[in-house]
Amino acid sequence: MKEMKKISLVVPCYNEQENIVVFFQRIAQVCSSLKDYDYEVLYVDDGSTDHTLAEIKKLAEGCDKVKYISFSRNFGKEAALYAGLQKASGDYAAVMDVDLQDPPELLPEMAKLLDAGNCQCVAARRVDRRGEGLIRSFFSRKFYQIFRILTRVQIPDGARDFRMMNRTFLEGFLKLKEYNRFSKGLFDWVGYSVIWLEYENQERTQGKTKWSFWKLLAYSLDGIFSFSNVPAVIAGGIGTLFCFLAFLFLIIIFARALLFGDPVAGWPSTICIILMIGGIQLFCLGILGQYLAKTYAEVKERPIYLCKETNIDSEQEEKA
Ligand code: UDP
Ligand code: MG
Repeated sequence: MKEMKKISLVVPCYNEQENIVVFFQRIAQVCSSLKDYDYEVLYVDDGSTDHTLAEIKKLAEGCDKVKYISFSRNFGKEAALYAGLQKASGDYAAVMDVDLQDPPELLPEMAKLLDAGNCQCVAARRVDRRGEGLIRSFFSRKFYQIFRILTRVQIPDGARDFRMMNRTFLEGFLKLKEYNRFSKGLFDWVGYSVIWLEYENQERTQGKTKWSFWKLLAYSLDGIFSFSNVPAVIAGGIGTLFCFLAFLFLIIIFARALLFGDPVAGWPSTICIILMIGGIQLFCLGILGQYLAKTYAEVKERPIYLCKETNIDSEQEEKA
């Protein structure tokens, strides 16, 4: 008999008590049609403060396909993805949101494409942003444009974290142990062949998005500073330009004083110039500070997450 391949579904959850069971039902439905594959659902409870963990445990009692790992506090979705993929024991691992915004109906196609062996990863991107605020869509698109210009990382518009990968890709991803994790960038960084599937945007089943506008803005800046040195180069460029201008002014003022003497005038313009240059200096220092802060976070080598509870035994972990 042909050996059955196993798919691990990694699902980060943060305060998603209403979605846990609904999600599993949909998955079970889709996977029952996937006759040649076994599957496991690996919930990562990212320090939820509601009944998320209780819901997961209840589900796990009745079904051995349900695995979970619970964090000691909220470490963020990126940490949850890392933990989940680390514990995934399947031949293939897929990353999905628990709010069913990532249509499970794509899973069979993803598995088939991986089976064909032409790629190491199948990712999904949404072709529209139905149900999303206009301002958010606008800034989101702009971010990806700027990101593509500033970095070598190519993230297509509307790309989600939703993807299925084989062990080769997964092990590559796990080698990236950095603390500042911008997963979309990391997924691109590992390379390999990726096939993109397209789908229409799905609205959240229950609850609200965990991302406020400001959280998203901070996340995008994080992404840029993690994957690009261009801001530092720009800061250096501005500095060089102003040095040159200052030198030019020095010569002009010196020559003028020699020719026409030195009447005391031009106080307002002096102040303006001082203020402007001071401002630019602080701006550039800020950019430098961003890199320093990132470096500081990395050299501390703090763990990406801390586990409080899990039903994954260490034996399986070793195999994985
Ligand atoms: N999530 C998480 N930790 C967080 C924030 C979110 O694990 O700190 C999970 C969340 O439970 C969901 C997924 O990440 O499964 C995506 O979050 P959300 O749906 O809020 O984001 P959106 O789909 O709006 O981008
Ligand atoms: Mg969502």
